[in-house]
Amino acid sequence: MKKTYLILLFFVFSFVKAQNLFFEDNKAMRIDYHVFASLNMDSIAIRSVSTVDAFSFNENNFLDSFEYGMHKIEIYDSLSNKLIYSKGFSSLYEEWQHTPEALGNVQAFEMSFLFPFPKKSVKLVFHNRTQENIFRAIDSFYFSPLMAKNNSKKASISVMDIHISGSPKNKYDLLIIPDGYSQKEEQKMKEDFRKLSEGLLDCKPYSELKDQINIKGVVAFSQESGVRDPILNSMPQTVLNSSFNTFSSDRYLMLTEVWKMYDLATSTTFDGILIMCNTSKYGGGGIYNLYATACADCEDYAFISVHELGHSVSGLADEYYSSDVSVEEYYPTHIEPWEPNITTLVSFDEKWKDMLKDNTPIPTPVEGYRNVVGVFEGAGYQSKGVYRPAVSCTMKDVVYNNFCPVCSKAIKQMILFYSK
Ligand SMILES: [Zn+2]
Repeated sequence: MKKTYLILLFFVFSFVKAQNLFFEDNKAMRIDYHVFASLNMDSIAIRSVSTVDAFSFNENNFLDSFEYGMHKIEIYDSLSNKLIYSKGFSSLYEEWQHTPEALGNVQAFEMSFLFPFPKKSVKLVFHNRTQENIFRAIDSFYFSPLMAKNNSKKASISVMDIHISGSPKNKYDLLIIPDGYSQKEEQKMKEDFRKLSEGLLDCKPYSELKDQINIKGVVAFSQESGVRDPILNSMPQTVLNSSFNTFSSDRYLMLTEVWKMYDLATSTTFDGILIMCNTSKYGGGGIYNLYATACADCEDYAFISVHELGHSVSGLADEYYSSDVSVEEYYPTHIEPWEPNITTLVSFDEKWKDMLKDNTPIPTPVEGYRNVVGVFEGAGYQSKGVYRPAVSCTMKDVVYNNFCPVCSKAIKQMILFYSK
């Protein structure tokens, strides 16, 4: 009798554990929306709600514990108002708002958000950071499962396994999407998938986390070969139309067709996206929890991939401070930035203070402290008032496989968050 009771209990427990109260298993809801951005305002308009089948999420990371990014979406159960999902991210439009072009202009930007498919009605609350760097709700929308249209494009897109270490549910899943590869370049595309993957997996700390990472590639062809370069007046038609000279910064290689990117990406499960651009010109970019881009044929392709994925996967900031980047005074020096690898010393206790040796001066002079973790002035495009953890790092100099201990720790934390 007792034994039967225990067996029964076991089955009840297994059932409860396997079923999430609020979300369907193995299915996602996709929201496509427009952000109409002006200098100081974002206005959100929903474009479509759809279902993505065979998309898995890890229940252990439904709630974002990092608080990184310029934006955040929180999902509440409509009935109980309980917070059931959250995710921070950044955007290209937020960077555009820092450029002179944003003065007196309004521009529409595509954005998408994927989350586990809700069983009942949910409320999505969109947040932006205030000037004080605190998240503030800017708008909210209700979505019922009945609103979602079925996305049937999925079957026609083929996906190649590049490095598989286990079920996508408990791994960090990186998806590579090629841009600017014509039908004739299928072989090159597949070789480039491997080249970029090896570049990532051979770089510390990713090399120590190989068993926690899956890498796949979407086999997507472009009408024409190469990527757009407005300065050279070269404008090939490609699957994502990524382009150099974004915001008048020649090597800033970005795309604005986010919905198309999600059409391709949702052909499989992914946590992060790397756009592999078929060009030999130096360039790339990376936006936290949106996408990273990298030139596949340039000499520094491995450095660029890991540097840009540093931004997009782990929310790392640029540690360099002399460049032609078109944003000025990006980090107000009286506010602590959210990125884990830079500080204004306003709230340094929350950053890498615990990684400093007792006798390390704050700020730290370069001479005598070249190979230690310190607080070196100059980071985030600013030579004064913003500090970095190391004299040199892959987030500062064009050096592959040279992430400083603070960046390495942040990367590890993020990969392990997805793979726990
Ligand atoms: Zn670093």
